[in-house]
Amino acid sequence: MATSNRDDSPSPPTSSFSSPSQQQPLPPSARLEEILNSDDRFEELSDSENDLYEDMGTATLEEQANITYLDKIRIPIQDSLKTETSETQDETLQIVLPFLEGNPNNFPLNIFGIPQLQKEKHVAFLKQSLGDYPGAFAMLDASRPWMVYWSLQGLSSMGYDLSEYRDRVIHTFSLIQHPSGGYGGGFGQLPHLAATYAAVLSIVMAGGTSAYESIDRKNMWHFLGQMKQPSGGFTMAAAGEEDIRGAYCALVVLSLLHIPLELPPDAPARAHGITTFTDKLGSWISACQSFDGGMSAAPGNEAHGAYAFCALGCLSIIGSPKRTLNDHLDLPALIHWLSARQCSPEGGYNGRTNKLVDGCYSHWVGGCWSIVEAAASSSNIWNRTALSRYILAAAQFKKGGLIDKPGKRPDAYHTCYNLAGLSAAQHVYSYEDTMLEELGGSELDAPYYWKVEGLYEGDKVWEESDELEQVHPIFVVPFRAVHECRRYFEDMRRLDFGQERE
Ligand SMILES: [Zn+2]
Repeated sequence: MATSNRDDSPSPPTSSFSSPSQQQPLPPSARLEEILNSDDRFEELSDSENDLYEDMGTATLEEQANITYLDKIRIPIQDSLKTETSETQDETLQIVLPFLEGNPNNFPLNIFGIPQLQKEKHVAFLKQSLGDYPGAFAMLDASRPWMVYWSLQGLSSMGYDLSEYRDRVIHTFSLIQHPSGGYGGGFGQLPHLAATYAAVLSIVMAGGTSAYESIDRKNMWHFLGQMKQPSGGFTMAAAGEEDIRGAYCALVVLSLLHIPLELPPDAPARAHGITTFTDKLGSWISACQSFDGGMSAAPGNEAHGAYAFCALGCLSIIGSPKRTLNDHLDLPALIHWLSARQCSPEGGYNGRTNKLVDGCYSHWVGGCWSIVEAAASSSNIWNRTALSRYILAAAQFKKGGLIDKPGKRPDAYHTCYNLAGLSAAQHVYSYEDTMLEELGGSELDAPYYWKVEGLYEGDKVWEESDELEQVHPIFVVPFRAVHECRRYFEDMRRLDFGQERE
C-alpha cells in the first residue's frame, strides 16, 4: 500500500488513529493496488520514470564497481525453457538491475558507493501514514492495528522517539479492544489474532503503565483459550482459519503479557484433553514443514517465507531455538529452502519458489536467520551484504518510504519490513544461557535469553549513518520495549490471575 509523502506538509497528528489498514502480513492485493493507482491522493507519485530518475550517462567509478560485483555473483546457468515465470523473472531483473548498477534516484552515496539510507524521508513517510486517509481506504479498516504497528516499528528502528504517540495508541486500542477479550481490526469488530498481535506490539512499543494497563489480560486469556484447537494449533478468529500465523501471534501475546500457560476453564480444547496453550503445538508446527523444507501456513500447503518466520518465531517462544527447531523441524532442509529464497544477482529475497524478489521478505526470510543460526550453532550462514545492497539501492522510494521493488509504490508494510531486514543484516544476536536481567518468570521465557553481540563487521555496504536500531529477533520490536513489558507483567500476574487459576 502506498501513501504519498509530501515533505513540505506532513499530516498533523490527529486525536486518534484514522489510518486505514492493510491486509495481514502478505503482499498487498491486486484490489489494493487498484485503489492506490486510482486515488487522487497518490497522483503526485505517478510521475513517469523519466521524471523520477536521473539520466544514467557514463558509468561513474562507483557504478563500475557495482557492475563488476554484479558480474561476479550472477549465476551463469539458466534453463533454456521459456515460461511465463522465466519471462517475468527476466523482465524483473531488467527493472532492478539499473538500481543495483547505478543510482537512478540520485541519492547521496555512502563510502561504499551505495545509496545512503534516507532516514529523514522515511520518517516523514511513516509519520504521514499515521495520519488521515482518503475514503477509498475504508475497506481496509479491519487492518488498522497493522498500520499502527508497521509505522511505529519502522519509526523506532530509525531511532525515532515514539512518546508523542503514546496517548493516541492507548486511545485507539482501548476503543477497539473487544469486551470479551482481544482486539478487532477496527471499532466494533470481532476480535482477531492478527489484529490482536499488531495491537499488543503497538502498545508494548508505546510502553508505560497506562499503556500496559489498557490491556484486559484476563479477557485476553479467555480469548486466546477460544482460539486453541484440539490439533495443537490456533485459529485466527472464532470459527476462522487455523494456520501458523495464529500460533505465532498467540504465543507472542502469551509471552509478552505473561499470561498463564494453562488454558482457561472455558477453553473448548479442554474437552479434547488439551490443558495448556503449548500442548501438541510443536508437533502441529512440525506438520507444517513442506516436502521441500520450507514452512507452510498449515499442514499440506505450499511453503512461504512469511510462514517460515511465524513458525520459527513460535518455536523460539516455546523453548530455545537449538532445542525446538532441531526437535520439530528438518533443519538442513529448512536452511536449504531459506537460502534458495535469496535472488541472484538482486540480493533481496523472494517469498516462494519461482517468485520474484520483494523487499518485505527482507524480514520474513531475512529475519529467520538469527533464529536458524542460534539453532544450528553457526554464524554468518546468510548473505547480509547482498540483502543490504538490495534494500539500500533498489527498495528505497525516491520520495520516502520503502518498496517491494523498483516501479512499485511505498507503503508502511514494505517500509517496516525492509527496515527490519536491514537491521537484521546489520546486527548480530545470540541466544545465551542466561535470561535478561531482572526477568524471572519461567513460562514462555525463551525470548528473554537473546543478547546483542554487536554490529556485523564483515563485508558490509552500509556506513554509520545507515545503521538502524536493534530489533528483537522474535517479537520485531525494540529490545527495551520487550524487556520493560515482560518485567511489568511478571510483577502484576499474581494480582490478575491468582484467584481464577486456583
Ligand atoms: Zn512484499
